[in-house]
Amino acid sequence: MHACSVLERVIIENMKKSKRVLKLLKFDCGQCSSCCRNIIVDVTGPDIERLAEYTGMPADKLVRLYSNEEIDDRKEDKEASDWIKLSYGKRTIGLNKKRNGDCIFLLNDKTCEAYDARPMTCRVFPVTRVIDDKDEVVDLEVSDVITDNTIKCKRIKGNGRSYESFMALARLASDEEETYSKKVKEWNRSIDKGVKNDFLNFLGFKTST
Ligand code: SF4
Ligand code: SF4
Repeated sequence: MHACSVLERVIIENMKKSKRVLKLLKFDCGQCSSCCRNIIVDVTGPDIERLAEYTGMPADKLVRLYSNEEIDDRKEDKEASDWIKLSYGKRTIGLNKKRNGDCIFLLNDKTCEAYDARPMTCRVFPVTRVIDDKDEVVDLEVSDVITDNTIKCKRIKGNGRSYESFMALARLASDEEETYSKKVKEWNRSIDKGVKNDFLNFLGFKTST
């Protein structure tokens, strides 16, 4: 028996990771709708654009701005670029909710009214991307809202998705996040901070007022 070289250790680690990652993708949604209730669904500009076109709703009805306190448990994770500086403080953007905390698109039969235009966050869930400092997707994991028991995901073993199709989606999601982050940084550098609709208008969206 001989000690592993660094290269061998990297190969073994990658093999273990790819087995774990492939297993992670082999599930079908149990349609319990837990991920559509009581959690904040992050959105980017391209998500809002798809939803506005699909639903015909003005951007300000589609999204809500969330304060630090509302996303308290995530504040350490949020990068500065996600925060939108407004005249009344900094906020981050997510899908709007009903009064009971459900996503505005969740129907009584637990299906999604905007499924074909749902945000990237919903498309990749319950998998989360691990991204390096060059914005490359370097690993996949189970979403932390599941590992920390915020929600119980009733996914079931199934065919799931291929690694290639998932990674294509993951890269597209990362590209869209990067584009959106640049716009937020541009907004944050401007002197007149404005309010929610000013920010949405700055992104190029129609609002109801
Ligand atoms: S957009 Fe659809 S899939 Fe996403 S949280 Fe809302 S109801 Fe669920
Ligand atoms: S929590 Fe899991 S099983 Fe339930 S709807 Fe979301 S992805 Fe599907």
